[in-house]
Amino acid sequence: MKKTLITGAAGFLGSHLCDRFIAEGHHVIAMDNLITGDLKNIEHLFPLERFDFYHHDVTKFVHVPGKMDYILHFASPASPIDYLKIPIETLKVGSLGTLNLLGLAKDHGARILVASTSEVYGDPLIHPQNEDYYGNVSPIGPRGVYDEAKRFMESITMAYHRHHGLDTRIVRIFNTYGSRMRLNDGRVVPAFMGQALRGEDLTVFGDGSQTRSFTYIDDQIEGIYRLLMSDYVEPINIGNPDETTILEFAQEIIKLTKTDQKIIFKPLPQDDPLQRQPDISRAKEILDWEPKVHRSEGLKKVFEYFKSLSPEELHRKEHRDFSHLNGK
Ligand code: UDP
Repeated sequence: MKKTLITGAAGFLGSHLCDRFIAEGHHVIAMDNLITGDLKNIEHLFPLERFDFYHHDVTKFVHVPGKMDYILHFASPASPIDYLKIPIETLKVGSLGTLNLLGLAKDHGARILVASTSEVYGDPLIHPQNEDYYGNVSPIGPRGVYDEAKRFMESITMAYHRHHGLDTRIVRIFNTYGSRMRLNDGRVVPAFMGQALRGEDLTVFGDGSQTRSFTYIDDQIEGIYRLLMSDYVEPINIGNPDETTILEFAQEIIKLTKTDQKIIFKPLPQDDPLQRQPDISRAKEILDWEPKVHRSEGLKKVFEYFKSLSPEELHRKEHRDFSHLNGK
């Protein structure tokens, strides 16, 4: 039986990966420090013999006994609100955390896939973004803590591959949505859905002309799985090229949720990328992958999920309290 370590396992992507690897027959070791993750995302797996959970912070030395076949490093705050509140932890998990997991992979002779992001392209000057583009990132801007940590992650992963012959994979993940996103993490899909369900106006930042391209979770997980099982070591974009402006997206959500909310405009956050659309030629060619779920279909499913949340969850406005971390 294959044994697979997934870090960030209690988070949005991590928990869906746990489900996928369990379904593929693996023994899954799930690891999370639960700063932004939530055990309720994986508690249905706890009764399984092929599932273990380690409450651990990967920026500290990581030890897992026995053999290991695959490691997927998905631990990181991933919403702009989170990484602005815990910038030091964000930098540490992308850098020290990645270093520890590369070392673990080397010790075990395991294949490792690291979760990079479209944020490595920053506010892109080419459109759509292909993997050969180096990006336009401000190292000292508010998003720099996330973007540069992920760029370092890619760099050190390639160094371990070239210098130690480690078997590595790098996925560049574009905006993804689905069940188990935190309603109040600030990302636009849960933000708009939560506002619609609470009967609040939808908050569009800037004039809403900035674009994003949203990928449904099942498509994202399939792309990641195919990349892990491929023999391709350079980064691959996984995302849906179906691009929309945020203003059109807000109108789409109002139509879908059949609410009569208004759209209100708020200031655009600093360094918010103006456009983002993946060029997925490489994923198509190497992985024979392309997204299957249209946005209208995916949004319907995720709206059903958000509707099923309890009123307490829906109205819990306060964000996670990170004050105890204090840059540790
Ligand atoms: N956004 C918005 N209203 C919100 C939350 C986000 O207009 O309540 C915008 C945000 O400024 C960005 C886009 O939606 O342009 C996507 O934001 P998100 O935080 O989901 O991800 P990003 O791609 O910026 O990392």
